[in-house]
Amino acid sequence: MNNIVLKRESNTDFSSTDETSLLVVIFDSNPGQQFLRDNTHVLTHCLDSIIAFSNAHLMQKAQNKLAVMACHSKTSQFIFPGPGKPIDIRQTDGQYEIFTMVEKTIKHNLSKLLGSDISNILTESLLAGTIAMALCYIARMQRIKSPGIKINSRILLVTGSSDSASQYMNYMNVFFTAQKHNVVIDVCALDQHLSLLQQGCDITGGLYLKLPQLQGLLQYLLWVFLPEPPIREKLVLPPPVKVDYRAACFCHRELIDIGFVCSVCLSIFCKFSPICTTCHTVFKMPGPLAVKQKKKKLKL
Ligand SMILES: [Zn+2]
Ligand SMILES: [Zn+2]
Repeated sequence: MNNIVLKRESNTDFSSTDETSLLVVIFDSNPGQQFLRDNTHVLTHCLDSIIAFSNAHLMQKAQNKLAVMACHSKTSQFIFPGPGKPIDIRQTDGQYEIFTMVEKTIKHNLSKLLGSDISNILTESLLAGTIAMALCYIARMQRIKSPGIKINSRILLVTGSSDSASQYMNYMNVFFTAQKHNVVIDVCALDQHLSLLQQGCDITGGLYLKLPQLQGLLQYLLWVFLPEPPIREKLVLPPPVKVDYRAACFCHRELIDIGFVCSVCLSIFCKFSPICTTCHTVFKMPGPLAVKQKKKKLKL
């Protein structure tokens, strides 16, 4: 019995209350999205699901943090916590005040945003830019946290618009930044399959789900995206789909399978060009393949 060495509890082992989870939800509220143009009531349904999901995240642990962003065709904004003073909330129907505040703040700020931006709505949403803003927010929260507290951050993107290859570079930049900062990016595609964002989920270790049925949005959010990434390994979630790792060429922003890569800056082109447009390196024109001549052995 004397041989047994008891493991000492180290002082650095923090209790679970020192770990908080920061969730940034990005909701693509661009009215130019196809599924919103078909039926505008869907927006309210999606918003209600997102509010319920956000409250469920706060309910899991008292220390959990939440931020909600709205993404538009020209701007992206934080709708919770809002830009102004927090709204005065009184308890209604016995509901927890924070839940009421989340709901009222999100609805108030989003309606303000939708009302202000009605001219020239483009169909393309600024998804990459909004993710970059979310990463900045996460970095700030990491900086101002009290010492000894660990923040696990993740971003959930809920969108129905398509990911256009014109934002390819911006996407890759935010994906690799998120990966470096250990921020998980989850994507819930409401309408179309998003191959570039799927790559982002794969790079950062997040989950990608193309929603089979819009009516069940809340159920899918709670089932797939509410559990923390370490817990997800123990759950039976939708099987991972094969990731389409095609890259967009820098000349036409089109997804290609095979292309030319600049050996200096790794820019991708669909056609050979003698000068790299990114770093201006000059390449030799590929001539006909030279036939190798056998070297004659010198006689000694
Ligand atoms: Zn091209
Ligand atoms: Zn180059």
